[in-house]
Amino acid sequence: MPAKVSDIMNKRMAFSFEVFPPKTEEGMKKLIGADGVLDKLCATLPDYISCTYGAGGSNVGLNVEVLDAVKAHSGVIPITHFTCIGHTKESIKQQLQNYLDHGINHILALRGDLPFGWTGTGGDLSYATELVAYIRKEFGDKFTIGVAGSPEGHIACRSLEADIAYLKQKQDNGADFIMTQLCWDMDQFRYWRDAIAAAGITIPVDVGIMPVLDAKSTINMAFSRNGCVLPRKLAEIISKHWIFPDPFVSDPYDADAAAKKASFKAAGIEYTIGLIDEYRVSGINGIHLYALNKYDEVAAIIKESGLIDRV
Ligand code: FAD
Repeated sequence: MPAKVSDIMNKRMAFSFEVFPPKTEEGMKKLIGADGVLDKLCATLPDYISCTYGAGGSNVGLNVEVLDAVKAHSGVIPITHFTCIGHTKESIKQQLQNYLDHGINHILALRGDLPFGWTGTGGDLSYATELVAYIRKEFGDKFTIGVAGSPEGHIACRSLEADIAYLKQKQDNGADFIMTQLCWDMDQFRYWRDAIAAAGITIPVDVGIMPVLDAKSTINMAFSRNGCVLPRKLAEIISKHWIFPDPFVSDPYDADAAAKKASFKAAGIEYTIGLIDEYRVSGINGIHLYALNKYDEVAAIIKESGLIDRV
């Protein structure tokens, strides 16, 4: 029987990466070319590697190409992310069959972020709950299905309780495991972990961790979509290494910009390792690192944190 990541996570803590399909040919070569980032990530023996899916499926060809490359590494399970955005039921069925034809039978079933200015998915399905039910109806048990969980509550949810109730519905509709949105607030995470257990959610929880490597993407990730709490320690790292006038300009007048970038990265890597330590002792089933298509920084984190010491 081929491995299912949910079975792995029910036995022991899993360890995995997330990559995205690059927009350029050069980026693809760097990621999936010989001795590229993917080869190096696979050499650390993760249980799986997931690949993101552009809302609306604009990058689906490249997404499949990346997943094919993951599949070529035996022992590493490829997982595709998939969203409802802009899809009819028929187009979902066709794309999912295409994944199966490529030997990809693990899927992260998402609603997807609504494109700027949209008020709905523009497709036949409106929520991930519906997508999970549809996959089970059309494909039975052919897919192992992951779903998103938001320890701080999804930014658009009417309450944390409602969000947890919908998460339970995803489990009831057939989801096999949860992959979480990034959360730096450990008190909130522990509260959510207890709350989902009380709600009857028993499927494994795989924790998503974004390495803290630069101020711009950390601030963007926290606030452009997710409304995450920034703990004081992380806010201090951002403030102490602030590039003036701000980290978003391409030509800062700050003479120390290069040194601050480097010292931010060092402090961010240390912070990320500490976060992994805290998560590992909090009763989770997996660590899912957003590898951001990088190897060196990610390697530093997994080596220092001991994640690749598993046998
Ligand atoms: P849902 O679970 O559908 O929830 C969306 C909102 O609706 C929530 O506020 C929820 O409380 C509410 N809700 C849920 N079900 C119902 C219901 N039945 N009735 C009424 N309200 C409901 N996006 C991409 O475009 N591509 C990616 O590759 C991608 N990868 C991701 C990976 C991870 C690990 C995570 C956590 C997110 C990822 N996202 C990705 C982002 C994700 O698409 C967004 O967070 C999106 O806004 C919500 O997706 P969801 O599956 O959580 O939605």
